[in-house]
Amino acid sequence: MAERAEDPAPGATDGIHEVRLKPGRHRALEGCPWIFRGELLRHEVPTGSVVQVLDSTGRFVGRGLYSATSAIAVRLLSWTRTVAVDGALVRDRIRRAVEFRRRLYPDRQAMRLVNSEADGLPGLIVDRYGPMLVMQVLAAGLMPFYDDIVEALVEAVDPEGIYERGAVPVRRYEALPLEDRLAWGRWISPVEVEEHGLRLTVDLAEGQKTGHFFDQYENRDRATRNAAGLDVADVFCYTGAFGLLAAARGAASVVGVDSDPDAVGRAEANAAANGLAHRTRFVTANAFDWLRAESAGGPAYDLVILDPPAFTKSRASREAALRGYREINLRALKLVRPGGQLVTSSCSYHVSLDDFIAVVGQAAHDAHRHVRLLAVGGQAPDHPVHPALPESRYLKCLFLAVEE
Ligand code: SAH
Repeated sequence: MAERAEDPAPGATDGIHEVRLKPGRHRALEGCPWIFRGELLRHEVPTGSVVQVLDSTGRFVGRGLYSATSAIAVRLLSWTRTVAVDGALVRDRIRRAVEFRRRLYPDRQAMRLVNSEADGLPGLIVDRYGPMLVMQVLAAGLMPFYDDIVEALVEAVDPEGIYERGAVPVRRYEALPLEDRLAWGRWISPVEVEEHGLRLTVDLAEGQKTGHFFDQYENRDRATRNAAGLDVADVFCYTGAFGLLAAARGAASVVGVDSDPDAVGRAEANAAANGLAHRTRFVTANAFDWLRAESAGGPAYDLVILDPPAFTKSRASREAALRGYREINLRALKLVRPGGQLVTSSCSYHVSLDDFIAVVGQAAHDAHRHVRLLAVGGQAPDHPVHPALPESRYLKCLFLAVEE
């Protein structure tokens, strides 16, 4: 706080652009890295600039990256007057992000390496797939540091190649081109990754997100710990990571369902590669239809896993999302044999944990099933949450015991 007491002399920012917050409350004053355009007084700053943010009285708030097109005008990287936002800072943060994962999961060669704000690098996502890195730059303000990012990753990880998955719609808000490209080194895909002893093949170019959903790593482990002998349904299975782990741990049968035929094809190939094809079956279907049809037959599974995509990306469609969650959880609960379990996830950050628990409770009530909530999981710790940015805590996974 002492730092904020000494006000900088006006113009003492060595050419760094200045922006000022409007009077009033701002999350940025409490450590939130996002400043929305509407929070700022009139200003004119080119995209990609480093800006110094002052409060309405002229006191130093922090330094960050400016984007002229996005609703998030500034992403803060520093709240300390002596910490400059430059290439050295970006490189150092990458180094630390990689070191943190090495301590966290010393034996894994595949995981998220950089998780945006939570690693002090707002807008930067990097996933490691053994020899390949897949990177997403989701903030225009990071572009001046592109070479620093690539070089720091090469130094820290020594990969064969870095592939940029830039064809993601959010980049439109940043006026960044929607294209995928090899950013460095050579191209290897598909790649094989190991997870809990399973070998999974990942398509880095065509797969969803960056290729694999590492955020469910811990929840997959927990969901399948006692899977031996169970009949399992893995709904929204993608390439089969939940269901195949259940099968590897001795499930009697596993059926996986996904609407993406490529994902289902990869799930089948993964099953074969792990010697699990005889106890697993993967179906290309709309999960809503599959659940409706399957639940008409009554309880047939001991463990049902639901891992749908985000049903809402905005507050406006939150109600529709809640209806969607209620529907699939109702159907899924009807499928669970008494004494079985439902493991159900939501990755919509506009649906809070409390909302999600409530909606699953309503579904249980509708289904006339008694459920006990045993545990709540979140995203794995290679996807850390920024405590002052609730938006960075998106994944909720409920573990429920289901009775009569
Ligand atoms: N459980 C997976 C990740 C699932 S991601 C894992 O652990 O790796 C969500 C999945 O839902 C995607 O694979 C997507 O193809 C699928 N999906 C989206 N809408 C769907 C629908 N209506 N019916 C079935 N699958 C759907």
